[in-house]
Amino acid sequence: MDGAGAGRRPYVGRFAPSPSGPLHAGSLVAALASYLDARAHHGRWLLRIEDIDEPRTVPGADRVIQGQLDALGLRWDGEAAWQTQRHPLYEQAFVRLRAAGRVYGCACVRRELPPGPYPGTCRPPAGSPAPGTLAVPGMRPPAARRPIRSWRFLVEPGLETFTDRWLGPQSQDVAAEVGDFIVRRADGLWAYQLVVVVDDGDQGVTDVVRGADLLDSTARQRQLARALGLPMPRVLHVPLILDAAGRKLSKQNHAPALDVSRPLDCLQSAWRALGFAALPAATTQAFWPAAIAQWARRFG
Ligand code: GLU
Repeated sequence: MDGAGAGRRPYVGRFAPSPSGPLHAGSLVAALASYLDARAHHGRWLLRIEDIDEPRTVPGADRVIQGQLDALGLRWDGEAAWQTQRHPLYEQAFVRLRAAGRVYGCACVRRELPPGPYPGTCRPPAGSPAPGTLAVPGMRPPAARRPIRSWRFLVEPGLETFTDRWLGPQSQDVAAEVGDFIVRRADGLWAYQLVVVVDDGDQGVTDVVRGADLLDSTARQRQLARALGLPMPRVLHVPLILDAAGRKLSKQNHAPALDVSRPLDCLQSAWRALGFAALPAATTQAFWPAAIAQWARRFG
């Protein structure tokens, strides 16, 4: 069964920002929803800095994000975690997936691939041994002939179905819509899909609450969690904040950094962006219990 609840694991939630810049209005909405959900369930709320994509990391952004959360009263439990300090965990998971024959080396260059799902060019033929095990004469996967550029996860066929606590029943045919996806690049860079699953599993996360832009990663992450024998967190994806041009507010789209000098205004606008009416609270101290109680009535 998925996630936390009666007779299940104690609730653990997390906020997992990528430190590619300070928090903006859109990332605050995800942080607020995940914080409220954890507090409404009397659970723990962890902060995980997703700095694994080092080329995108902006030095110091992690400290700025922590300062912004602190100024708003979004207090995380325990020490924050940094993905760059967790490489051995990812390596262990990767070794397990390889031993199980669930990853293979891929020689494809992105610009040579057609748009859409990965066509399976380097996928080992069905029934062939896991790489690094028995050599079968005449059965060399194409990747063996060209340099390996990435490692792909061999996805399962069929529909992956789950219930999103905000959006309701969801399904995705990962094989048809995405195909075998990259979990590691040949230069060693880990892919988001793998590290998020390994971290959520290792940290005992029962509930993932994040922006709806990550909804279509969920089916992939469930397949990875299953292959690694990890429990499935429940998921809740909150609506994205769009800018005037209808694009997702994001650092890439130059969303302005959140100005936390008026914390109550920031919290109230993020709260309203979640579809609630403004709370009759004159201070942040009054905002929190009222918001947690309303969230608990809707999602508890
Ligand atoms: N690091 C991701 C982001 O900032 C979030 C990952 C997640 O919540 O699963 O968009």
